[in-house]
Amino acid sequence: MAKKLLAVLLAGAMTFSLAACGGSTGATQEAAPAPAAEEAAPAAEAAPAPAEEAAPPAEAAPAEEAAAPAAGGKVGVSMPTKDLQRWNQDGANMEKELKDAGYEVDLQYANNDVQTQLSQVENMISGGCSVLVIAAIEGSSLGEALDMAKEANIPVIAYDRLLMDSDAVSYYATFDNYKVGTVQGTYVKEKLDLDNAEGPFNIEFTAGDPGDNNAGFFFNGAYDVLKEYIDSGKLVVKSGQTKFEDVATPTWGTDVAQARAENILSSYYADGTDLDVWLCSNDSTAMGVENALAANYNGKYPIITGQDCDIENTKNMIAGKQSMSVFKDTRTLASQVVKMVGQILTGAEVDVNDTETYNNNVKVVPSFLCEPVFADASNYKEILIDSGYYTEDQLK
Ligand code: BGC
Repeated sequence: MAKKLLAVLLAGAMTFSLAACGGSTGATQEAAPAPAAEEAAPAAEAAPAPAEEAAPPAEAAPAEEAAAPAAGGKVGVSMPTKDLQRWNQDGANMEKELKDAGYEVDLQYANNDVQTQLSQVENMISGGCSVLVIAAIEGSSLGEALDMAKEANIPVIAYDRLLMDSDAVSYYATFDNYKVGTVQGTYVKEKLDLDNAEGPFNIEFTAGDPGDNNAGFFFNGAYDVLKEYIDSGKLVVKSGQTKFEDVATPTWGTDVAQARAENILSSYYADGTDLDVWLCSNDSTAMGVENALAANYNGKYPIITGQDCDIENTKNMIAGKQSMSVFKDTRTLASQVVKMVGQILTGAEVDVNDTETYNNNVKVVPSFLCEPVFADASNYKEILIDSGYYTEDQLK
């Protein structure tokens, strides 16, 4: 059945030559605006709708102009999980913006289960989607579905997380992931005044999921800022765990991060030694560390970094239990991706601003990187509330 549809899609395939903008390297892409002659999209899963109309925060990348004119058709949007707040927002933003632009949308969440995501994406292909937008659970696990998309000339946009080991990925839209890490590392450097203070200071690291290509970028960005101080002994990692593999958090799970943090606290900080910093790559892992500290630590409260400005973490920032986060406005990313979809389907030039950084082991994927924004208790109101991202009530 799927084969038959594939044949139809192939027969209708047209080849467009698209040039990547923002760089001298023209990216040529095969795009097939195979019209979806299928029945209506399955009901998309409901997700809490974030505030929509407000202006983007001052320092965030502007949400560009409105999406390119709709070419119609169905767009498949595959999100990893509903467990973390951000993906609900990403999915809801994408669905709304795509519908506003005149597309049908097949939005699916995969419950952090790779097999579920694989079959959801395959269903999107056999269900007549003209473009796929995928935020992978595990970057390299969707090969089969991506091959199927390629065969059917269905362009694939990797959303936030790069799809690895496949030449079927047409474009990538994300935030500047390395910069997320440097913002965290620079915060620690400045907060401790590492160039002038005598130290030494104790620091521990918690990074993200090894299956997520972003996780290494975040960790390296932060570590590259702090490495010279670790090398000189001004920063001391008592656990000795400084390699990404040692500090990674499979699934980005709060419970996983918490269990490791509890271990480290009881092994190295139970004797009254102060911990000065816990560098966490994102909010879900920071929450694990915060939980562990609450249960297992009586010393000086450390600087803790995060990313995403999740509601619970923002509350913790306000309460002084997390020092900072990195705000990635999911509205900005969704707008950019909807624009990409329109450009792909109308054969227009696709906006990219990076044609060098994101090699998925098969090709360098032309990318659009949005700007991450520093957030802490001093600027959260302007960034999160004035911009309409959250209401004041949500943060109470
Ligand atoms: C995203 C982060 C998020 C993490 C866990 C990463 O790929 O870029 O924003 O915190 O996944 O979901």
